[in-house]
Amino acid sequence: MNPENLKLNTICTHVGEVADKQFKGAVSPIYPATSYNFEGVDEKRYPRYFNTPNQQALTRKLAALEHAESALIFSSGMAAICTSVLAFLKHGDHVVLQKALYGGTHNFVVNEFKRFGIEYSFTKGLEKKDFEAAIKENTKLIFIETPSNPLLHITDIKMVAALARANNIISVIDNTFASSVNQNPIAYGIDIVAHSATKYLGGHSDILAGAVCAKKEHIEKIASLGINLGGNLSDYTVWLLERSIKTLGLRVKAQNRNARKLAKYFSKNESVSKVYYPGLKSHPGHELASTQMKGYGGMLSLELQPGIDMDHFLTSLSLIKPSMSLAGVESTISVSVRTSHALLSEEERKAQGISDRLLRLSVGIEDKRDLIADFEQAISKVRAKQI
Ligand SMILES: *Cc1c(COP(=O)(O)O)cnc(C)c1O
Repeated sequence: MNPENLKLNTICTHVGEVADKQFKGAVSPIYPATSYNFEGVDEKRYPRYFNTPNQQALTRKLAALEHAESALIFSSGMAAICTSVLAFLKHGDHVVLQKALYGGTHNFVVNEFKRFGIEYSFTKGLEKKDFEAAIKENTKLIFIETPSNPLLHITDIKMVAALARANNIISVIDNTFASSVNQNPIAYGIDIVAHSATKYLGGHSDILAGAVCAKKEHIEKIASLGINLGGNLSDYTVWLLERSIKTLGLRVKAQNRNARKLAKYFSKNESVSKVYYPGLKSHPGHELASTQMKGYGGMLSLELQPGIDMDHFLTSLSLIKPSMSLAGVESTISVSVRTSHALLSEEERKAQGISDRLLRLSVGIEDKRDLIADFEQAISKVRAKQI
């Protein structure tokens, strides 16, 4: 069957399997070989780098999920992002990056670009005029991330893609937070879609991996730099990632539903002063999110009322785990300034509007009533001590 015509959960379950021709097992066998017979092989690329049987099969699943021509798997999200970005840049080029990016990407740009002679500008805001103002004569690449981490700002994907096209600039999006279930940016004209597969694609907080989806010509360019930089993923982990993606559609849709319910609950709760969730009508990006996302995602951020002891609240939670990272089947909570944005200076955090009291919740697949009950018991513990 043509993967183009298949629906989400069928792609997740069936596309990109390695057929077990020998034993006819129901799942992909693992081919761990790093050495293959060279006789009679006309493949120019060494059959080890980014092109083992398991990797090639999984790239078909990823490409189908993003409606892309091709894909590539990396050993981490950062490897996928750095390699994809650098593949299109040289000394003297300029890059436009949206304000408010994942902390690691921000760090990569501000710490590494300068010594390669690559210039960059962060946009002042997320409007068309902000991107236009940042573009220069030598701009070669625009990088966006929507919804953004941790405030879930929404950037207009179609607008950025069109602006990039009109100026002959490569457009790259970090699609990690939305996942391929909720957002497919290639349909809106974006050139390159990067993922930290450590998050929703893996989904169980036990895989470190990255992926990038694009048209064939771009993937070949990224792969050729990738071979020089390294960053291949072991086939054992490739196999586990393929297994994990079988439930991607089910997991993410459950996470969407839970997050939406929790966001509504928090927005009416007197202990919560702020809620950031694109699925809420009060969110400034709500309308835009409704046009470009199929679901609003499993990530939300909140601030507790100023009088509430945040550390005591975190240690009082029993189900929701204070934890770095996100997107597992279990709900986790983190303090952005101590985790994902710890490397940013206070000034940079202020510029992005990230308060010291911001809590980022990655909503899992648990029963929402248990999650609400956990929040309530933790708040009452903190309040009882404060009285
Ligand atoms: C985690 C994350 C990354 C980095 O991915 P790793 O797999 O940890 O290297 C990049 N972008 C976003 C939005 C992330 O959440």
